[in-house]
Amino acid sequence: MRTVLLIDDDQTCRAPAAELFRRLQWQVFEAVDGQSGLALALEHPPDIILCDLLMPRGNGFQLCRAVREHLELRHTRIIICSGRDFSHDRTTAEEAGADLYLLKPLLLSRLKEAIDEVMAVRPMLETERPVTEHVFSAEDLTTRIKFWGVRGSVPTPGASTVFFGGNTSCVEVRALGEIIVLDAGSGIRPLGLELAREFKGQPINLTLLISHTHWDHIQGFPFFLPAYDAKNRVHVLGYEGARDGLRATLAGQMESPYFPIALSQMPGNIIIEELKEMEFSVGEIPVRACFTNHPGVCVGYRIFTRAGSVVYIPDNETFSKDGTQASKSGIPSSLDYDIVEFVRDADVLIADSQYDSAEYGSHVGWGHGCLDEVVRLAIAGNVKRLFLFHHDPAHDDRFISTMLMNARAMAKAAGSPIRIDASREGEEIILTAPAPVPLPLQVP
Ligand SMILES: [Zn+2]
Ligand SMILES: [Zn+2]
Repeated sequence: MRTVLLIDDDQTCRAPAAELFRRLQWQVFEAVDGQSGLALALEHPPDIILCDLLMPRGNGFQLCRAVREHLELRHTRIIICSGRDFSHDRTTAEEAGADLYLLKPLLLSRLKEAIDEVMAVRPMLETERPVTEHVFSAEDLTTRIKFWGVRGSVPTPGASTVFFGGNTSCVEVRALGEIIVLDAGSGIRPLGLELAREFKGQPINLTLLISHTHWDHIQGFPFFLPAYDAKNRVHVLGYEGARDGLRATLAGQMESPYFPIALSQMPGNIIIEELKEMEFSVGEIPVRACFTNHPGVCVGYRIFTRAGSVVYIPDNETFSKDGTQASKSGIPSSLDYDIVEFVRDADVLIADSQYDSAEYGSHVGWGHGCLDEVVRLAIAGNVKRLFLFHHDPAHDDRFISTMLMNARAMAKAAGSPIRIDASREGEEIILTAPAPVPLPLQVP
């Protein structure tokens, strides 16, 4: 049975709506203010909340925001009703998470249409989650990594960046049938176009891991095509932003002064979840996170696939909080012990190498990596392949090539077998799991 929650301090407004829903065989709950309405919604998650805009103890805007912050209410549709017809109210309600805005007095015929309208675009439930029928060519034993955006801070298109690329952070990892997208910088836009081409209208199911909500890591999301198709499921995971939480921060860049479409208006089945634990899994793939040395709440991710582990640390200043633990463990005292352990024995490390050592002197405390220290980190952690990442917007292709040559020379001088490259838009890396060891023949 469908359920509706009517929130209005005016009983004469609730009564006719309640009567209509009951006639349509819905179960009806009622509350007189935003606060008690939210509590009731959490107790009995409704299909629809029909809510007055201006009420004591929690107005309609606040209720929308609160509902959208609760994962368990992600399938609830919200209809706001108000006697005020200011376009600013409508826009603000939509930005806060309302699906529809109706004018009072409520005509029952209009309300009936509104119910059909919002239920028609109800997001899919977990049990209705689309099964990706797409056949992955490389089966379980292969991991594919593709760079879609490698630049830090701001996109830098132009002739001088054409080789390494100018889009901001976005890396795709495919393994065990999962599509994991690391960050939503402007590189996620071409990734979205490519996914649409590849899946040809079949449902796309992917997980987006956000390292942090600085603009260069989320600015591409409003242009991510798969998020505009209701067949697709985009599961966004990240840690709480320093101020407003993950959903509010992602929604903030799409508010009306900045963008014409609100996050809540994107038709895709978008589920935003704030992570609390530092270890979790995407499908059957274990993932670990580690806080990095960067302003605000910023993490790196380590993805453990059968073909090897991939570490992504897009924004991190390589410095030691306390050099004693590092030097006691035989690693350079300038390095952060926790980060060295986080990257230890990784097959691929994608790491913030924004500055060379000459530039770093005037950027200490900015939260970004110095090339020499990043190479030391990778060697100390016994990493197999290092990709320099988060290229500075001021660095043209020639400068990045020079940094790469210097990094390789450092590794050679240190006698390390590590392979170093500078990450480049469009480049793909394939990791293949070692062939299974054949069972020994049975001896009679
Ligand atoms: Zn960044
Ligand atoms: Zn940042």
